[in-house]
Amino acid sequence: MKNDCIFCAIAAGEIPCFKIYEDENAIAFLDINPASRGHVLVVPKEHCRNLLDAPGALLAQLVPVVQKVAAHLKDALPCDGFNILQNNGEAAGQTVHHLHFHIVPRYAGQNAGIDFTPRKADMDELKTLAARIDMRNGD
Ligand code: 5GP
Ligand code: ZN
Repeated sequence: MKNDCIFCAIAAGEIPCFKIYEDENAIAFLDINPASRGHVLVVPKEHCRNLLDAPGALLAQLVPVVQKVAAHLKDALPCDGFNILQNNGEAAGQTVHHLHFHIVPRYAGQNAGIDFTPRKADMDELKTLAARIDMRNGD
């Protein structure tokens, strides 16, 4: 548990939340500022900052919990679909630096404010970029 981490405090039961799931390794609770009705956060009990900081074994436990909770929300709310969001770093909008997955239920015809606007790609730019980040021939 990390001092001054709000999600560590929630996981330890020191700060109240509306919890909807708990097992040995993770909890899920309602987001206090929901983007849509039923917006849930899935949080590991062990503190890690973000996806890159998380041990593989922790992720192997956590991702099935995200799937299980999302499947439950789809039936229990019910909702028509859902977005899984996971922010890493302040530039990406991360405000709580304890790994978490957002499950944002979506309802037909309702905007949850999380859409992005695609732009048409420049093929030369994509080619150069792909060469730069190609992981297949690691050196
Ligand atoms: P981030 O922006 O880091 O990806 O998401 C953090 C989320 O945690 C935000 O959506 C915010 O509303 C939620 N949050 C922050 N503090 C609390 C809290 O004390 N209780 C609950 N239930 N949610 C919180
Ligand atoms: Zn923490």
